[in-house]
Amino acid sequence: MKAASNFTEMIVQSWKNVATEDWNSWKWQFANRIRTLPALAATLNQRSLANSNCSEVIHRYPVAVTPYYASLMVASDSHCPIRIQAVPDPREIHYSLGGTADPLAEEQHMEVPGLVHRYPDRCLVIVTNVCATYCRHCNRKRIWKQKPAGDMKTYHRRIIDAIAAKPSIREVILSGGDPLTMSDRAIESFLSALRSIPHVEVVRIGSRTPVVMPMRITKPLCAILRKYRPLWFNTQFNHPREITPESTKACEMILETGIPVSSQTVLLRHINDCYDVMRDLLYGLQRIAVRPYYLFQCDPVMGTDHFRTDIWAGMEIMEKLWSNVSGLCLPKYVLDVPGGKGKIPLQPFSLLNRENTDPS
Ligand SMILES: *Cc1c(COP(=O)(O)O)cnc(C)c1O
Ligand code: SF4
Repeated sequence: MKAASNFTEMIVQSWKNVATEDWNSWKWQFANRIRTLPALAATLNQRSLANSNCSEVIHRYPVAVTPYYASLMVASDSHCPIRIQAVPDPREIHYSLGGTADPLAEEQHMEVPGLVHRYPDRCLVIVTNVCATYCRHCNRKRIWKQKPAGDMKTYHRRIIDAIAAKPSIREVILSGGDPLTMSDRAIESFLSALRSIPHVEVVRIGSRTPVVMPMRITKPLCAILRKYRPLWFNTQFNHPREITPESTKACEMILETGIPVSSQTVLLRHINDCYDVMRDLLYGLQRIAVRPYYLFQCDPVMGTDHFRTDIWAGMEIMEKLWSNVSGLCLPKYVLDVPGGKGKIPLQPFSLLNRENTDPS
């Protein structure tokens, strides 16, 4: 088995007999995802997990972690930034601080199920609700347990037809869930249907697989993606430790296909809400030619309170980044306004405003 750079002894034990070929196959990774608390507790060697009320948590918000992503965890460290992103926490079902299941009102912006059309020129498609690893901070965790109404083909067909009927849409974002949990054939069939619509100029894929299941980026997949350019790829790196030889290679393969890769990072409490970690992440992304695109203020989604940072803490980090790091490393810090009003930039400072246009 090929070990990731920061494999911990304890976690290696769980998969020490796995053939390298299996470990490097996304189908093996996907089929062998950790889906239960006992399996997770055994992997992390933590009996406490099984005894906590996490079973109630995963009843509502299922657990799934690829062996690869689990292998990046430091099992003994409950503050491990990888662990916090993937291991259920009882606080996910403590709703005392509020939050709603769908603060961005995506469900209300759907003309047909799965199509969120909030801006005139672009729309977002929830092509699947399946992910390789369920990120506990996900702003769409409400959909993890949703059953698609009817079969997938019909579901996709209705979305394609709705896009075809809207000439203002020039860009389509494949999102989810994670579009790359679908088979190559399903991906190709969706992309070719989109490409047959003359007004769809650009396709964007949002997928976290380069980070949580990098083996998904295969040569055959890249060959398919190449055919449907102009295509843009957005992934989500949240911590420098996610930049491994494996995730680097996955991004490189996408880049070599002629597809730009960006990261939409989420500002997460105790994971990356400090200047040093964020700078290291952004520097790391620049080294692997992944463009930091957005830094998201964590949405007020039910079950994610414990991940949210203060906007002003985010501003402070951005202000320090602005004056210290290369412009190519700087993401836009944005807030998705509740109610589905769209994203707004959070600017750290501005000398000028309408009332005071004299900077001196
Ligand atoms: C974020 C988002 C987009 C894409 O917005 P960009 O600013 O172009 O990245 C499109 N549609 C919906 C519904 C979104 O939430
Ligand atoms: S991969 Fe994306 S959609 Fe899936 S759980 Fe993570 S953040 Fe949510």
